[in-house]
Amino acid sequence: MSSNPSHTPGADHAPASNFLKNIIDQDLQKPEYQHRPWARKPGGAAVHAGAPADPANIRLRFPPEPNGYLHVGHAKAICVNFGLAKEYAGACHMRFDDTNPEKESEEFANSILDAVSWLGFDWNSFGDTNLYHASDYFDFMVESAEFLIRAGLAYVDEQSAEDMRTNRGTLTQAGVNSPFRDRSVADNLARFAAMKNGELPDGAAVLRAKIDMASPNINLRDPAIYRIKHAHHHRTGDRWCIYPMYTFAHPIEDALERITHSFCTLEFEDQRPFYDWLLGNLAKDHPQPDGSVLKAILAHPLPKQVEFARLNLSYVVTSKRKLQQLVLENRVSGWDDPRMPTIVGLRRRGFTPEGIQLFCNRIGVSKSDSWIDYSVLEGALRDDLDPKAHRAVAVLDPLPLILDNVPEDWRDDCVAPVHPHHAEWGQRDFSIGKRLWIEAEDFQEVPEKKFFRLFPGNKVRLRYGYVIECTGCDKDENGKVIAVHANVFLDSKSGTPGADTYKVKGNLHWVNAATAVTAKVRLYDRLFTEEHPDAGGRNFLDVLNPNSLTEVTAYLEPSVKTSTPGTIYQFERHGYFVADLKDHRPDSPVFNRTVTLKDSWSK
Ligand code: ATP
Ligand code: MG
Repeated sequence: MSSNPSHTPGADHAPASNFLKNIIDQDLQKPEYQHRPWARKPGGAAVHAGAPADPANIRLRFPPEPNGYLHVGHAKAICVNFGLAKEYAGACHMRFDDTNPEKESEEFANSILDAVSWLGFDWNSFGDTNLYHASDYFDFMVESAEFLIRAGLAYVDEQSAEDMRTNRGTLTQAGVNSPFRDRSVADNLARFAAMKNGELPDGAAVLRAKIDMASPNINLRDPAIYRIKHAHHHRTGDRWCIYPMYTFAHPIEDALERITHSFCTLEFEDQRPFYDWLLGNLAKDHPQPDGSVLKAILAHPLPKQVEFARLNLSYVVTSKRKLQQLVLENRVSGWDDPRMPTIVGLRRRGFTPEGIQLFCNRIGVSKSDSWIDYSVLEGALRDDLDPKAHRAVAVLDPLPLILDNVPEDWRDDCVAPVHPHHAEWGQRDFSIGKRLWIEAEDFQEVPEKKFFRLFPGNKVRLRYGYVIECTGCDKDENGKVIAVHANVFLDSKSGTPGADTYKVKGNLHWVNAATAVTAKVRLYDRLFTEEHPDAGGRNFLDVLNPNSLTEVTAYLEPSVKTSTPGTIYQFERHGYFVADLKDHRPDSPVFNRTVTLKDSWSK
């Protein structure tokens, strides 16, 4: 796996490739895709039979489990699925894969809907609200399980969990058939009913597909498809005490929703044979020993699973479980801590939907795993923000500058463009006075080589203001500089004819102490000190960066008074900042640094 930014997809902004498009293009040529019935609601073959042709060219889905907040990896899956649906005039379903009752909740489900909407996507298309829940399909899933039993393709196994594990075999050794494998259909139906009716405790039995215990693909060695779990479900309550396994439920969900392409991450590649086995059998008639026919409950064309590489982002963990651990152990302030790679965290940090979409387009979609350098994400964000963000001045490490040759009440009006490339956006007004704030790093009593900013005897321009000449500084008893003194040349104002007569190398930003807005500003660093925080079985908590958050009191120009939570600025020289979504108040502003102006991370 590559982590060198110059070899990372997206680093060079080259047009990204997406092999999924080739697959879609080829499929759309096939006759079976030309007329796919769609009953405008999910269902089996009976529901869609005779329905009008699907107005959507392709039907995709984004299927999260509502067991946590979405992260930047999910953003890739969202952009892939909703993005391709948009591009091909198709539909993309928002589906909650809520088949695992214990870890799921409405809170998570709602946060997921918010995240997808915020990213700029919509599950409504062609007049349908394509918001679905796998738990609505539990009846059909049970019917599918009974169908497989009748077809002689599933059986209730009552081996101990231990025996089941041992009898599964290994990569090099074939498995051993369960003693329950050849039960009669009637016996299987009765035992499955007992499972379903709550007559058996958790773990006492599982329903397994009957495929091949000697298959080289372990996933085909009679995989479990239904298990007993006496658990309350956040939507179906206590109606069920059996729940389908993910690998059984997911293909059925796709088929009921008439999904054309089921895009998922590479770890599901080995599941594809089972996906196809299952749907193929449910879409087929099965002659019965008594001469009758078990009629197919699904119709062709069946959804097609295609795997793509998941997003791995350097300096970031993208596992819901690990992110939850950061929250539960108070390593961060919550799911929406601006250091979190969750969508709510990125949003609070000041990331925009457009910036995240640009990132996803740049990294493309491929079939091989790689690490994407965090700088690619930041680069996309800068490119999105630069043309949009209003400019303002902020002094983050303030040092007083006193202009000695003007009276205490001296004051003059200055202007600066709201944006250097958008003259039509107008000017920002602010004032200059005798007492100003400058950055502490802009003064050196004894200048180092090539230091062109303030030092005794040197002239610099106060940006959008006047040229000044430094005359000295005040120090405290420890020798620390506590104020800088200068004289101002009153005929040097920016924008006046006199300005050109002064040639200076330094151009400093500043704010007028009399009118400055005092704000809390949060500066962020990487959350982890290692590029691959959870690599090689390392405990990712051991490589948390203790300095990932610094809070400073800063002075800002008065134009920022109009900001509301979510307003984004470029603070000249310092980067992009957003008024915090939670803590920002007009009378006590709080800004988060979204990203610096330049990449300070690439080596
Ligand atoms: P986690 O492993 O963090 O718990 P998950 O894969 O279990 O995440 P789901 O809710 O099942 O989370 O994911 C919904 C969709 O998002 C799936 O289709 C999954 O493949 C995709 N997805 C999850 N993580 C990534 C990632 N890092 N890159 C691309 N797609 C991802
Ligand atoms: Mg997962």
